[in-house]
Amino acid sequence: MRKFKTESKKLLDLMINSIYTNREIFLRELISNASDAVDKLYFKSLTDKNLQISKDDLRILVSFDKEARTVTVSDNGIGMTQEELDRNLGTIAHSDSLEFKTDNAEAQGENVDIIGQFGVGFYSGFMVAKRVRVVSRAYGSNEAYAWESDGVDGYTVEAAERAEHGTDVILTLKDNSEDETYDTYLSEYGLKNLIKQYSNYVRYPIQMLVTKTREVPKPEDAGDDYEPQYESYQELETVNSMIPIWKRKKSDVTQDEYNEFYKSDFHDFTDPARTITLHAEGTLTYDALLFVPGRAPYDLYSKDYKKGLALYSSNVLIMEKCEELLPDYYNFVRGVVDSQDLSLNISRETLQHNRQLTAIARRIEKKITSDLSDMRDNDRENYEAFFKNFGRGLKYGIYTSYGMAKDTLADLLLFYSAKQEKMISLAEYVQAAKEAGKDKAADGQGTPCIYYAAGESVERLAKMPIVTTVLGKGYDVLLCTQDVDEFCMAAMDSYTPEVAEGEESVMWQFKNVASGDLGLETEEEKKEAETAAEENKDLFETIQQELEGKVSKVAVSTRLTDAPACITAEGAISLEMEKVLASMPGADEEVKSQRVLELNTKHPVFKVLSEAQKAGDTEKVKLYATILYNQALLVEGLPLEDPIAYAQAVTKLMH
Ligand code: ADP
Repeated sequence: MRKFKTESKKLLDLMINSIYTNREIFLRELISNASDAVDKLYFKSLTDKNLQISKDDLRILVSFDKEARTVTVSDNGIGMTQEELDRNLGTIAHSDSLEFKTDNAEAQGENVDIIGQFGVGFYSGFMVAKRVRVVSRAYGSNEAYAWESDGVDGYTVEAAERAEHGTDVILTLKDNSEDETYDTYLSEYGLKNLIKQYSNYVRYPIQMLVTKTREVPKPEDAGDDYEPQYESYQELETVNSMIPIWKRKKSDVTQDEYNEFYKSDFHDFTDPARTITLHAEGTLTYDALLFVPGRAPYDLYSKDYKKGLALYSSNVLIMEKCEELLPDYYNFVRGVVDSQDLSLNISRETLQHNRQLTAIARRIEKKITSDLSDMRDNDRENYEAFFKNFGRGLKYGIYTSYGMAKDTLADLLLFYSAKQEKMISLAEYVQAAKEAGKDKAADGQGTPCIYYAAGESVERLAKMPIVTTVLGKGYDVLLCTQDVDEFCMAAMDSYTPEVAEGEESVMWQFKNVASGDLGLETEEEKKEAETAAEENKDLFETIQQELEGKVSKVAVSTRLTDAPACITAEGAISLEMEKVLASMPGADEEVKSQRVLELNTKHPVFKVLSEAQKAGDTEKVKLYATILYNQALLVEGLPLEDPIAYAQAVTKLMH
């Protein structure tokens, strides 16, 4: 007996000891493996002229034996060699996902489809079976082998007999217990239902020997009182519909059917958030069926994640994940594209330069965009859930394309509005600003602004003095809490909302409320600030000297009301960006924002400062400067460069 690898064993334990209650999906998993095996053989026959395979002969057979308590899934696909049986069924291919599986399964209890999600489909048989026997003969080989296991410690592989190429998976069902009975799997009705429910669109016929009754022909010598006689007989019946769901008219398919197809084909346990269909005719004829998942896959933001749509040519799978069909920022979309106009033998290299494919991709992108916009306008709750899942990717899309994707994506973004206290789109920001009469620059001439603040949490940002000041002047502030937000804003630079025909389009500038010049002050305020700066020139110089190397400027603030001081940044790099950049691996120490210490000259603390300066008490000025600077850092959520010096300064102040 060969032992299972540790990780396989762990997973088997997990599965058998029932993390997953939906045991019946084992059949879907085995059928889908069988269908893959048939696919592989068919696919091979397309490229290998020596292979004489007729598509009509390919099929999957499901049968059961009530006495022996077995359920068998057979296929005449590519089969497995002795070595493949050992390798494929003795270990779990993606062992590095195991940790995640185990952790998550434990954390989330019974709702986790660890089986479908990670392609450990075969093992799901052990949820219902106490023994699994796999008899397989690889195409082109004369030898067959049998793999057998009770799913506990290990398995055996030995020589066996099989008339033709393909695989039989024979499950000996567990005994019925008080909690669980397995008898539905030993009935024609039960199995048929499962096939219809989960595997209806499998491309190859799934056949079952079903019992039917027919009338026995009337004997010639039957008398007048003859009563029709019936006999039962068995016939091979194809249970699944096979017509690909994407080829059916949308109006003929229920959402439930779409959901089921999505879940079984893309191994997800959540219904899709959105189903998108596309039918194109003309120079290029194709159908697409796309899904926006209801939740983000765990590896979406990892480098292992692969985007792409399944590509079919007249119902035959050409490629499982064709990357070229989706832009990176829509990498979360799953689905299939089927075109009769594409050649079956299309290769990876030619795909990349395939004009037809590019045309399809462009159309698909447009369709996704318009569908998401529709969802944003008409199904807001779901759209917000969608945005929670995938919004970050859209923002990255803008950032990584240096703003080139902004025309497509800007209108799909949502941000938290400090004023409305909910998620709003940029167009809604502009609309509300117009209604509030805040759609002009403060001087009545310049570009109007979309104000935003970036930081850790909405709660924290909403309390920041610079935010409340801008709000106090009647402008809304978007509160940005994702690290990508500011980079996205910077890449967009401006936003020009769509306008009705005949209306003049207006450009709005993104402006960080913590950036140097906000342009929100009145002429009067500006003058006041200038006078204050002039009057306190010496004081500012002393402070600047004390904070040498820390701030590039000390200035009069026109934005503060209650707080004595704040830190803002001049130039391209904001304080938040500095934080994000510093947290990245291999961060460049030199990338720093240019900090400005802004002082509120109307604050009582400033009076104390200016009196100390007048009295020549430089020590006190320096002490206060240190404290104000550090306090402002704290409020901004920036690390203190020298916490000890700060603590000492505060202590000194106390006695
Ligand atoms: P997955 O199908 O996600 O790769 P499974 O654990 O279900 O994971 O199967 C492991 C491997 O065993 C498959 O990748 C395939 O190579 C092989 N296999 C399973 N069932 C069959 C079958 N019916 N015919 C041929 N190969 C099979």
